[in-house]
Formats: sequence, structure tokens, C-alpha cells
Amino acid sequence: MFENLSDRLGSVFDRLTKQGALSEDDVKTALREVRVALLEADVSLPVARDFIKAVQEKATGQAVTKSITPGQQVVKIVHDELKHVLSGDEDPGKLKIDNPPAPILMVGLQGGGKTTTTAKIAKRLKEREGKRVLMASLDVNRPAAMEQLQILGNQIGVDTLPIVKGEDPVAIAKRAKTQASLGGYDVYMLDTAGRLSIDEELMAQVEAVRDVANPRETLLVVDGLTGQDAVHTAENFDERIGITGVVLTRMDGDGRGGAALSMRAVTGKPIRFVGLGEKMDALETFEPDRIAGRILG
Ligand code: GDP
Repeated sequence: MFENLSDRLGSVFDRLTKQGALSEDDVKTALREVRVALLEADVSLPVARDFIKAVQEKATGQAVTKSITPGQQVVKIVHDELKHVLSGDEDPGKLKIDNPPAPILMVGLQGGGKTTTTAKIAKRLKEREGKRVLMASLDVNRPAAMEQLQILGNQIGVDTLPIVKGEDPVAIAKRAKTQASLGGYDVYMLDTAGRLSIDEELMAQVEAVRDVANPRETLLVVDGLTGQDAVHTAENFDERIGITGVVLTRMDGDGRGGAALSMRAVTGKPIRFVGLGEKMDALETFEPDRIAGRILG
């Protein structure tokens, strides 16, 4: 397992003289350790480099506080900076869903947790905001995925668009829009098809659906345990489709959360929710503080 960064920095600083302020050398020594911790937490190299530079500027010359050790002090500066980078200025859990029916487009690779997350968000909108939600699966190549959404819908008491065999994703998106308008729904969620990797066909299909639906929110669902792959996925989807936010799933696993930092730094898009299990309630609003703690270990 990973060594705790606070302990590691503590031992580094034991060897350093404790003057009144953090010297440039003290900070440099500490930041070497921080860099290792970031890389171990799966933060990408360029992101770690920029991050370290920002922390270095903040830490150098800062007066050493008597109550805590210099090591703890650097950890605190790093923690605050992580929080700063991870925080968006908006409330991450507040989706833009005024002007009913508001379309939400769900995108991502297969197996990332897209269908599960679609249902989790629908349940949340229904229970916390009293919204009437309609969910539609656009995964025409996988009938099992369409049925899965239906089963989840029944389980949480949220309507799903009836399945019509042979319809293409764009036609389904149009039907969902009509049904949502006629049926007086506040929100309709389009669960697009996933692929094992990003490919041209997938992107073209999602683009066509996007153009028809004109979504208020486009949420990318990615497996938080896949580290750098998750970051590349986010970069690709954002470039091609334009995402408004990210949901990181499987954060109940033992991932270190570095992907969250890289993703935020690379795409500039906020992380909205975190998936913490398979159950329909296992979804939380993203909290920068928690992920920062996780990255630091
Ligand atoms: P999709 O192919 O992207 O639609 O993925 P699914 O929604 O079908 O999810 C794939 C598997 O991951 C299912 O077994 C889900 O129950 C599971 N899953 C989804 N989100 C989470 C999560 O946050 N934590 C855990 N542990 N499992 C999850």
C-alpha cells in the first residue's frame, strides 16, 4: 500500500532545521515527496508538474506555524491547492434542468456505469427535487442494456420510454423528446450506447443524438479506477461532443482519485457526482475535500 504522505513528509522534515519560515530548499525537498504521492495517486505527469509549481510558489517563505510541523504545513498547503483545483465555482449537484422537458445526455464507454448512473440520477431528481423524469436507452445494439434500464426504472419508480425494435438512436431520441413534452415530464435522460473503446462510429452516433436533443447537460460517466484511461476518455468526449460534467464511478473501490485532478485540469469541466456502489442510492455530490484527502493518502 501507499505510505501516508503526512508521515513521509514528517520524516523528511525531521532532518531539516526549523527556521522561522519554510525555505526554498525545505519546500523543494517536500515537494519531491508530494510529486511521488501525486504520481502514485495516478495524477498525470504534466498535471502534477503544474500543480507542484503552484504549490511551490505558495509555500516558499510561508512562516512556520508553531502548532504544526513544517511537514504538516506543506501537506496543508497541498491539500488546499488540491481543493482549489478540484472545485468548480458552481454547485456540482445542481443540474441545469429548467425549461421542461430538459434533456440530459449520458455518454461514456461500455461498462463504466452509465446505465446505473442514469437511473441513480433520475432517482435523485425525483426524490430530492420532485422532478418527473423519463429515461430512454439508445443502446440499440445491446437489447440487454435497454432492458436493464427498464428494470432499474421499475425498481426506482421512474418511467422509461417503451422499447421499439429496429429504431435507430436518433429516432429514439426524437421519440423521447415528443413523449417527454406530451407527457409533461420535467426531464428526459438519454442513455447512449457505450463501446469498449472510443471509435469513430460511436462518436458520430452520439454527435447525431446530441444535435437532435440539444441537451442542457451532457454528463460523461467514467470508471474512476481506470486512472489515465479515464482522463483520455474525458478529453476525447469533451473535444468531440462537449461535456458539461463528469460522474466518477467505482469510487467505493481503492482508486486514489488522481484521475479526478487530471480530468479537472485537462478538460476544465466539473466533476458533478461520485458513484459509490451498485445500489441506486450509492451516488453522492462530488466533494473536493474528500478526493483531496484521498489523493494525499
Ligand atoms: P454501462 O455499460 O456503462 O451502462 O455500465 P453499467 O451501468 O451497466 O454498469 C456496469 C457494472 O458496474 C454494473 O454491474 C454496475 O452495477 C456497476 N457499477 C456502476 N456504478 C458503480 C459504482 O459506483 N460502484 C460499483 N462498485 N459498481 C458500479
